[in-house]
Amino acid sequence: MLTLGRPGRRNRIAFESSQRGANNSQHVMFIDGVRGKPMNLRIKLPILIVVIVSASILISGIITYFYSSELLLRKSDDEMKANAYRMGEAIRGLVSAEIRQTEILASQQLFRHTLAARSESGVHFFDSTNPQLSLSTKALQDAYHGSVLHEKFWLGDSEGVVIAGSDAAPETGQIIVKDRSYFIAAMKGAPAVSGTIASRANSQTIIVIAVPVKEPSGQVIGVVGNSIYTSFFSDQLKGIKINKHGVLYIVDADGMILAHSANDNLIQTKVKSEEIISVIRDQSDEMNGGMVISNGQGSKYLAYSKIPLADWTVIVEDDVADIQSPLIDLAYKYAMVLLLSITAAFGLFVMILFRWVTKPLHEIIRVIMRAGAGDLTARVQLRAKDEFRVLGTSLNDMLIRIGELMQAQETANRLQLENVAERERSRVSELLRTCMYKLNSTLDAEQVKDLAFYELLKLVRYDRAASWMLESDRLVPHAETDHGIGLSQRDPLEVKAWFAQMRQDHQPIMVCSTDGQGYLLAVPLEMHGKLVGLHIIERKEPAFERSEVELVLSFCSQAVIAVTNAQLYREKEMMAITDELTGIYNRRHFFHLAEQWLERAELHGEPISVILYDVDYFKQVNDRFGHLFGDLVLRNVPLVVAPHLPPQHLMARYGGEEFVLLLPGHRGAEAWKVAEAMRRIVADHSFEPEQLPIQITASLGAAENVRGEGLRSLLQRADQALYEAKRSGRNCTVLAEPSESMERHS
Ligand code: GH3
Ligand code: MG
Ligand code: MG
Repeated sequence: MLTLGRPGRRNRIAFESSQRGANNSQHVMFIDGVRGKPMNLRIKLPILIVVIVSASILISGIITYFYSSELLLRKSDDEMKANAYRMGEAIRGLVSAEIRQTEILASQQLFRHTLAARSESGVHFFDSTNPQLSLSTKALQDAYHGSVLHEKFWLGDSEGVVIAGSDAAPETGQIIVKDRSYFIAAMKGAPAVSGTIASRANSQTIIVIAVPVKEPSGQVIGVVGNSIYTSFFSDQLKGIKINKHGVLYIVDADGMILAHSANDNLIQTKVKSEEIISVIRDQSDEMNGGMVISNGQGSKYLAYSKIPLADWTVIVEDDVADIQSPLIDLAYKYAMVLLLSITAAFGLFVMILFRWVTKPLHEIIRVIMRAGAGDLTARVQLRAKDEFRVLGTSLNDMLIRIGELMQAQETANRLQLENVAERERSRVSELLRTCMYKLNSTLDAEQVKDLAFYELLKLVRYDRAASWMLESDRLVPHAETDHGIGLSQRDPLEVKAWFAQMRQDHQPIMVCSTDGQGYLLAVPLEMHGKLVGLHIIERKEPAFERSEVELVLSFCSQAVIAVTNAQLYREKEMMAITDELTGIYNRRHFFHLAEQWLERAELHGEPISVILYDVDYFKQVNDRFGHLFGDLVLRNVPLVVAPHLPPQHLMARYGGEEFVLLLPGHRGAEAWKVAEAMRRIVADHSFEPEQLPIQITASLGAAENVRGEGLRSLLQRADQALYEAKRSGRNCTVLAEPSESMERHS
């Protein structure tokens, strides 16, 4: 597959990725297979075809070879037999002709007379004056007449003594042939042919044809001999060629070689082969034949033909290997041709396959691989009008279709994403709106801060949050929430550094997890374009995303307004109820609360008292030490007395240098004690303008509420008590007595 898009490599199309899934590896293998350079189809296919064709050619060649071999052996057998037979026939004809010639010679009356004279004259026959001898010699010489075929013609008597010869110097009477087989046979009345004999005259090999000389009565009285050189046969054999190494030779009845087609040295030697000897000696009527003989040097084939007249046998002999040599030659040539054909066929196949198969196939694979890599614009380009073209066109159509589908899918996905994004936007803005509505639903600053942390959590998950705000140009922690995940405290210096950076670029800051503390996001808090603080949220993981940052920014920009509004409101509210100089409640708010307290006390039947406090000769203090010092005194009076007041009390600035206290649960006497304590504390306190200790005194009037009296009356009585205190010299406390009407009433 295509990783196929192996990791981090190529862009993969979503469709493809989803299709792959688990069998990715297979696809990879396919591509890798191509990368790994397997044996090319261009090589593989021709090899396959050539191997198949060669194998079939080879098998048929081997079968043909064996059939041809048999055929050749049979043909060779026939040929060799024919050769043997033809040669046998030729020699038989020759011998017949010689016998005939010798018979004609022997039939002359001259020889009968000569032989008669021999028998009569005995040894005198050889006298040079014997006319019969010279006549016979003359006749024999005439027959010879310079023949190269013949050694000589001769005449032998019945005793086997050669009495006349055609040779120039006959060893008259010296040659005895009576024990020769041919003589003995001829004396029996029939022509006979000898075996090979070494010529007495020149040691050449000869054969002798002996023909009887008969009386008219048929009695054999002598023999005419015809000695013939065997070289004549040899010469005849010389031209004969049997295959490359085949030979033809003629053996006599004793196995002696008379003539040999290839080697004259073998003439007059005996054949050694037992098989040949047995053929020669075979007395059956079988005149022609053939056989395969084997010896240590291999197999030989021999054909024979017997010549009955001469008791000779013509033998044609050849090695089987020699007979088969044309076939072996043929086999070699066949192999060569086959090899050349295979090479040529291979080349041809490569070319054809490249053009017809592998080239288009590669083109198709190329496009498939590119498509696999995500490029759906790849197209197969083939010119040939064949199945590959159809395949390529179909693939192109498929890619176009897939491309269209992908585009449609992409559009659908985009629209869906846009839709999702739009919905998300609306959801977030709705959420923001709701959050802001809730934040603005109260003017309690603390509640607004708590709500801000809580509502932000609905938009962005975090584990801890903190707001730092500028107060009098100092960055101080403003609000904090911790979900108890154990994040360590942020270093204020670090926060201040971020704030300093925000002053410059007004951008949020993201801190990645490097210390195992998780991820932090700090966003600037701005009011009217002015940086007023920063809000920090943290979580263990994951890191904050861009969209979350945007969300926090939007939220905080709104939340800071809500929080500031609540704070402003609280400030305004505080201003309305507090005294600007002393920071305690003002007269108006005192009345507001005192009415309620009084009502509650009366409701529960509990006592409640009031104290009025007036600084003595304060005008003089102002006059002597200045208004600012007067202010300082006024600011400090509540602070100095506060620690000595009962826990439940209501203190306010009554006006100018006067203060008022409401003490629920206090009877008049108890209130007087409290007032006395206040007086003493202030009197003992040393105000020090310019290192000059100043003692300030005050006069106090106390009054206990009489049921149903009302606040104003109560205050009036306290004021009268104060007046009494002034009148009696100041720096003292007077408890107001209830008037008579009141006492009656109570
Ligand atoms: P007495 O003992 O009779 O009360 O004398 P007195 O001077 O305190 O009383 P008087 O009512 O004559 O003077 C009150 C003075 O308090 C007048 C005014 O200058 C001063 N005073 C009132 N309000 C303030 C204030 O807010 N700051 C300062 N420094 N002085 C104030
Ligand atoms: Mg006064
Ligand atoms: Mg006064």
